[in-house]
Amino acid sequence: MTLQILIAGGGIGGLAAALALAQQGHRAEVLEQAAAFREVGAGIQLGPNVTRRLRALGLHEGLARITARPEMLRVRSAHDGLELARLPFGDAFRRRYGAPYLCVHRADLHTLLLEAVRNGAVAAQVGLHTDARVLRVSTRGGEAVCAESSRARAWEGDALVGADGLWSHVRSALAENDPPALPTGHTAWRALVPQADLPAASRSTRVEVWLGARLHAVAYPVRGGDWLNVVVLAETAPPGDAQRAQDWDQAASLASLQQATGRTSPQLQALLEAMPGWRAWSLHDRPPLTGAGQMANERIALLGDAAHPMLPYLAQGAGMAIEDALALAEALKGVARAEVPAALARYADARWARNARVQARARRNGEIFHATGPMRVGRDLALRLGGAKVLDVPWLYAG
Ligand SMILES: Cc1cc2nc3c(=O)[nH]c(=O)nc-3n(C[C@H](O)[C@H](O)[C@H](O)COP(=O)(O)OP(=O)(O)OC[C@H]3O[C@@H](n4cnc5c(N)ncnc54)[C@H](O)[C@@H]3O)c2cc1C
Repeated sequence: MTLQILIAGGGIGGLAAALALAQQGHRAEVLEQAAAFREVGAGIQLGPNVTRRLRALGLHEGLARITARPEMLRVRSAHDGLELARLPFGDAFRRRYGAPYLCVHRADLHTLLLEAVRNGAVAAQVGLHTDARVLRVSTRGGEAVCAESSRARAWEGDALVGADGLWSHVRSALAENDPPALPTGHTAWRALVPQADLPAASRSTRVEVWLGARLHAVAYPVRGGDWLNVVVLAETAPPGDAQRAQDWDQAASLASLQQATGRTSPQLQALLEAMPGWRAWSLHDRPPLTGAGQMANERIALLGDAAHPMLPYLAQGAGMAIEDALALAEALKGVARAEVPAALARYADARWARNARVQARARRNGEIFHATGPMRVGRDLALRLGGAKVLDVPWLYAG
């Protein structure tokens, strides 16, 4: 049975869902508000739980082409630069989880997914529509769902998937009076640079994390290792030059970043100063999911940040959107039109608790990463004594 599935949002989650659903024999119409399918922004870390799923979508070769394979995760103090712990990502790690740990530029992963739905084996089953902001959602007697868009056009389908991100509009069709995502008081700065432009000491083949008081920084290679992605996250209001809540691509100065970080280790300082330019945005969040009803109802389901935005402190936001996409396609496999509501309920049942756990763990990581006083001393001791055991996350990577 071929279902007609409407997908609001053509980000990483929406395109992954279109690909996975088309591979199950369904037809997907992707409605994207922007004038073009494109992704800006920073790097993304892909744990083995995610790379395993991307390979299952047939993206093995493409991934190998666009990603970097970091050799390890290394955690250091942002204050003196000393190493606290490391987790090697070599053969033993790959064998343990059956897939590698990879780093990718967000735009490269988005392009890979877009190419697969636009030009790959399932291209005839995927409609891609730009300038199509979903404004209204309605259901027709429980038998179909309708999405009206800014194109003054309406689409009807057997199901509607809200993959429309943190500021999701489809979400309001599941829950009336849903409160908006709230600012966390944390700001992110990011920068990207060719490694060849960096002093040798600042180049890296690792995921490098520096932990400081109320801040941390992460750097890792992308684009086959040729570029370095750097992100700094600090518990501070966005600088004056980056205060638009929903815009996560605002120019910001090195001076505003340095004001937020204060004095850091000479190595980290040198890296921050070597970056050619910074972008900043304010992090927003929602409380962890509390039940399956928040992810699906009748013929409408949510996926990715629309359902469960999360702080980037476990590096799994895009990962959970991709996991959702495959779980959704699995739940809709071989399903008849009348069975769609039950299938979406199965999808939500299968996904909500894991998503909630990742959301909660990301929040907790923020507290640990940014610890001060005695908690920081205890954290550093645990990292020095526990090493890789403290950094590994088997329930997540094996899931
Ligand atoms: C600093 C930082 C670092 C991160 N690092 C990682 C990491 O290392 N690993 C990881 O897995 N994740 C990471 N993430 C999280 C990750 O970026 C997000 O979780 C992920 O992009 C969510 O994908 P999505 O498709 O659900 O939503 P989005 O990427 O937000 O896509 C939503 C799409 O819907 C469109 N849209 C919105 N409203 C409508 C509408 N009404 N109608 C039609 N279209 C609409 C938008 O234009 C957009 O294209 C990080 C996030 C941050 C902030």
